[in-house]
Amino acid sequence: MLLPTSIPVVSRLAPTPSGFLHLGNAVNFTLTWLLTRRAGGTLHLRIDDLDRARFRPAYLANIFQTLDWLGLDYDHGPSGPDDFEQHYSQRHFLADYEATLQAARAAHPGLFYTCGCSRTDLARAALPLSSNYPGTCRAKILPPDAPETAWRAHVPAGLTVEVPDLWQGPLEVPLGAALGDFVVRKKDGAAAYQVASVVDDVRLGVTLVVRGLDLLPSTAAQLWLAGQLPGTESFRQTQFLHHGLLLTEDGHKLSKATQAGQERGIAAEAAHPRVVYAAVARLLELPKAAGESLGALQAAMQ
Ligand SMILES: [Zn+2]
Repeated sequence: MLLPTSIPVVSRLAPTPSGFLHLGNAVNFTLTWLLTRRAGGTLHLRIDDLDRARFRPAYLANIFQTLDWLGLDYDHGPSGPDDFEQHYSQRHFLADYEATLQAARAAHPGLFYTCGCSRTDLARAALPLSSNYPGTCRAKILPPDAPETAWRAHVPAGLTVEVPDLWQGPLEVPLGAALGDFVVRKKDGAAAYQVASVVDDVRLGVTLVVRGLDLLPSTAAQLWLAGQLPGTESFRQTQFLHHGLLLTEDGHKLSKATQAGQERGIAAEAAHPRVVYAAVARLLELPKAAGESLGALQAAMQ
């Protein structure tokens, strides 16, 4: 793994309050914290709550409980659920996201198009072996403010995006095949995750993003968007570190569906955060003793 070379390092923990945090989330937070602290960087807690349909107060509280349980601090961000709702919720930034979307639509005609497909339409049109949107509305030219419509990005079918990665080396991501015409503005008029994530990272001055390899298509989508969303050009200088799947103690890959913490969250299900530290040590191929505590991990990474 290469060290982040951007000076200063500014990173973020970016959980979503749409479920209890599981082992994979906890490992990602610990790794992000270790890399940021080692670089003498700044760490934000940035909670993605745009998906209010799946939001539950218990999930929001679980984020703070889990960070506390892991012993991870951060430099900027909400101190607790009330502070979050009052000052940090993405609801407070909806106008920023909307302004960015409108400016992009004006600057790049054809970049976005309006999609009036219902859930049923989408299910009916789904192609075998692909969950990507088939492009039904691309040629319809529906007005941008038509009721009950979303906006999609027109992703050229063969488009690949180069993602520089501190751990994996340079990666080529076939964005057209991986995500297709993804949604940038939802039917409720709010920006979709990919747009909000870029705008938030730019606002916070993030220079290092640490995420799992399963989010590689999102990184590619965000890099591609940042080339076209006015005001987000600096996002293209972000350093990325994508980590692989977690391994069990005997070296088997831990699938998302079977990992600890799916039901009540890792902080409630594991007896001790050592479970998380040990998983981080395995991921980084550090000696077993490094997984005994957060301090031991820090020492082993010096
Ligand atoms: Zn459509």
